[in-house]
Amino acid sequence: MNDVLMKGGQCYYENSHGMNVCWGGTSTLAHRGGTTIGNTFVAKIPDGSGGVIDPRKYRDYVPLIEHEFTHTLQWQTLGVGMVDYLLWEARVAVVNWVLEDMRLPPIGMGCGNPYEISASLVKGGYLC
Ligand SMILES: [Zn+2]
Repeated sequence: MNDVLMKGGQCYYENSHGMNVCWGGTSTLAHRGGTTIGNTFVAKIPDGSGGVIDPRKYRDYVPLIEHEFTHTLQWQTLGVGMVDYLLWEARVAVVNWVLEDMRLPPIGMGCGNPYEISASLVKGGYLC
């Protein structure tokens, strides 16, 4: 949360699920739809112009928060074991880098990730 605030972002406390939600600024934690670490969701929901909108204005806000809350529960259950969740994303990024070099279409980020599947791909906004 401090990383986002120090880099120009904003945060609020989401009462419905007991989570911190942060967005905006230049934090590298926010990528694509965002990332949840512990009970903090760092969002990067594009507004269509390249900017980032307040997540509360995202049309699928409720299902998204439900999805991210499942990640919070995964963090509570697995603790540092959730590093595997982050490594999964890194593995897919490497595979896509190779596929791009071979001029093949990329695989969907998150679509085969068991942590994302468990949290519901639909609620997370994944188009698989
Ligand atoms: Zn997710």
